[in-house]
Amino acid sequence: MFKKGSKLYSILRGTCPKCHSESMYVNKNPYVLTEVLDMHERCSCCKTKYKIEPSFFYGAMYVSYAVGIAFAVAAFVISFLVFKASIHIVFASIVGTLVAFLPVILRLSRNIWINFFMHYDKSLARK
Ligand SMILES: [Zn+2]
Repeated sequence: MFKKGSKLYSILRGTCPKCHSESMYVNKNPYVLTEVLDMHERCSCCKTKYKIEPSFFYGAMYVSYAVGIAFAVAAFVISFLVFKASIHIVFASIVGTLVAFLPVILRLSRNIWINFFMHYDKSLARK
């Protein structure tokens, strides 16, 4: 399921959605905040242009709502149901989680978004 060729592989690792051979991002570490959204123009392996059209990645905003909610729910479940924390602590942990994971959420959203439009092509993959 997480192997090369599945959408999850590309989404979780931020690799080119067509060939899965290399990262779309200039800096693989999302916590280098000045470079969090810096992407290569094209894949150097298969030449896929990531930004299909101008402002293509604005659509990722919609995805980021869903991804953000998923992280918030996870924070809620862990703090409230697992640790039985008070409502104030639960609230703080949700806010803290969203802030701490913001770079990850931003990138995951872009990865999910681009994977709606592009699909893995085995013939393009680096052998
Ligand atoms: Zn590629």
